[in-house]
Amino acid sequence: MRPCAVLFDRDETLIEDVPYNGDPALVAPLPGVRDALDALRAAGIPVAVVSNQSGVGRGSITLAQVDAVNTRVDALLGPFAGFFVCPHGPDDGCECRKPRPKLILDAARALGVEPACCVVVGDKQSDIDAARNAGATGFRIEGAVTVREIVASLLSGPPSR
Ligand SMILES: [Mg+2]
Ligand SMILES: [Zn+2]
Repeated sequence: MRPCAVLFDRDETLIEDVPYNGDPALVAPLPGVRDALDALRAAGIPVAVVSNQSGVGRGSITLAQVDAVNTRVDALLGPFAGFFVCPHGPDDGCECRKPRPKLILDAARALGVEPACCVVVGDKQSDIDAARNAGATGFRIEGAVTVREIVASLLSGPPSR
């Protein structure tokens, strides 16, 4: 079944991972991502970003810097239906840091869809666990399984409505 929305992790999924990046000039999309996102949008499937940015909680970067980087991501790879960010550190006990489900639940609510029909794509087990904890379906980027392959397989299924 085709997903009603696809929620992407940001770093090392859509763009190269630059740890605690606060500089929009360093945003570099990964190969094939732009075309995959365009294919989803062309199919009428909204795409959004769900990202842990613990550098904010650690004091390495500001939320304004995260916003500036996300604005650059949106310019290069958007339009995204939204950016959902956890700014907390791992010891803050927040509700939103993946593998907790809140970013995904918030994104689904904002998009007006059920979490159960959402797909989450990420490069870490915490992305997949967050999907499961939200009742969504996770797909992990690993080796030859890239965003391109995952999106192609999603679009080969029958429409969900
Ligand atoms: Mg990542
Ligand atoms: Zn959080």
